[in-house]
Amino acid sequence: MKTHNPTNGDRLRLTPHFTLEEMTRSATARRYHVDNTPSPEAVHNLRRLCTKVLEPLRKEFGPIRVTSGYRSEWLNRMVGGATHSQHIFGEACDIHIPSRAKGIEMLEFIFMTLDYDQLLFEHNLQGAEWIHVSYREGHNRQIMIPYYMPA
Ligand SMILES: [Zn+2]
Repeated sequence: MKTHNPTNGDRLRLTPHFTLEEMTRSATARRYHVDNTPSPEAVHNLRRLCTKVLEPLRKEFGPIRVTSGYRSEWLNRMVGGATHSQHIFGEACDIHIPSRAKGIEMLEFIFMTLDYDQLLFEHNLQGAEWIHVSYREGHNRQIMIPYYMPA
């Protein structure tokens, strides 16, 4: 029988296809040697986000690349996140989209079939585009903004 070590944070599997590592890794945190380890509560929230949103999305579209999940307050400030960003609580993640057309399909799939709190099609001044999606405990507001520029 295989033993499972739940304290192995790097490899900890949140759901069948998503690990804690991919939901917390950050090039910015690495560059500045800053720890981006979430609290147990944030881990719990990340797992719920993976279960409710990312696993169904993966089932429909194949492997999903998360570009930003949990962010400590420091990291969120460093990357210019909103002050009360749900990333800080492990309730939100950003998803890479291979093309705008595929991104719109993914957005529509989440919008039409899943429960979510906020769903944003985001872009920056450099022309990068991605999906931001969040899920939280209790009432999810189903707020969808199809084209949103972060402040
Ligand atoms: Zn985001």
